[in-house]
Amino acid sequence: MLIVMEKTATPEQIDQVVKVIEGLGCMARPIPGGDRVSIGVLNNKGPVDPALFLGLPGVKEAVPITKPYKLVSRETKAEDTLIRVGEITIGSGYLTIIAGPCAIESDGQAMTIAEHVKKAGAHLFRGGAFKPRTSPYSFQGLGEAGLKILAKVRENTGLPVVTEVMDFQTFDLVEHYADVVQIGTRNMQNFSLLKRAGESYRPILLKRGMAATIDEWLMAAEYIMAQGNHQVILCERGVRTFVHHSRNTLDLSAVPVVKKESHLPIVVDPSHAAGRRDQVLPLSRAAVAANAHGLMVEVHHQPEKALSDGAQSLYPEQFDLLCQQVMAIFNVCGREDSL
Ligand code: PEP
Ligand code: MN
Repeated sequence: MLIVMEKTATPEQIDQVVKVIEGLGCMARPIPGGDRVSIGVLNNKGPVDPALFLGLPGVKEAVPITKPYKLVSRETKAEDTLIRVGEITIGSGYLTIIAGPCAIESDGQAMTIAEHVKKAGAHLFRGGAFKPRTSPYSFQGLGEAGLKILAKVRENTGLPVVTEVMDFQTFDLVEHYADVVQIGTRNMQNFSLLKRAGESYRPILLKRGMAATIDEWLMAAEYIMAQGNHQVILCERGVRTFVHHSRNTLDLSAVPVVKKESHLPIVVDPSHAAGRRDQVLPLSRAAVAANAHGLMVEVHHQPEKALSDGAQSLYPEQFDLLCQQVMAIFNVCGREDSL
């Protein structure tokens, strides 16, 4: 159930509705909108009677929500969510490009790549300090030293940084250094991590689980929002199929489906979907044509020497071309949604 308040509702009237909701043993989540506040009723065990709210001062309507995800749903919030990261806005009307290496390897490597991607047009810098690797013998990331390098990159270039958190124990640390905290595909249903992300003051970039349906992915976002953090960016990064021509299969249909179901921004990571650099440019073009709100792309100045995901990392000149091409596509068909 969603309680939609009048535009003129006062804070006291909103409080009164919250108290009635809590009196029912439910959780109340006020959702500030463009010109009015709505209040989500969560945790209800059965149907909630709209009549309990309709007579209260300042209440416009009480709308039942039919989807399993509530705060994430467009039924709860019709207008697109915009997420501010420093000077950058992520969401409808913007194309946000996040670029950088798979992993932070050294000061020099990170700065060289950051300077290049900034010049090419990237808005945020990415790089893992804690890496989820399939093999325990592969490079695991520099840990806190990598986070410190990210902070230096931000200081020197002005680019906000995105980096992955792998577990509950290191959340405080990652949150301290990152501008956007990434939850990777392998952790999409790590519910204690999602709950901690919901208490974070940072925006969360939530990747789709490699075998997750869109409903499961949106329910994972719901975990974060239910704890009070409404700054969630969804990231499609490909799902596991039977093919061998790419590492995963990029599911671009997720873009229009998510945009219809949810008000949250959605970006596309063609690098982890493809697993090889020759597919990254065409998939990026397609993602922007499909009206994704952004791209997350791996770039390395020496991919053959990269400590992880070199095969899918673009050379800097390839990234220049990508930025030029996707901006041109965005100018033709990305600015306006024709849902
Ligand atoms: C990454 O972006 O560094 C990463 C590990 O991606 P994913 O979780 O999508 O595999
Ligand atoms: Mn990677």
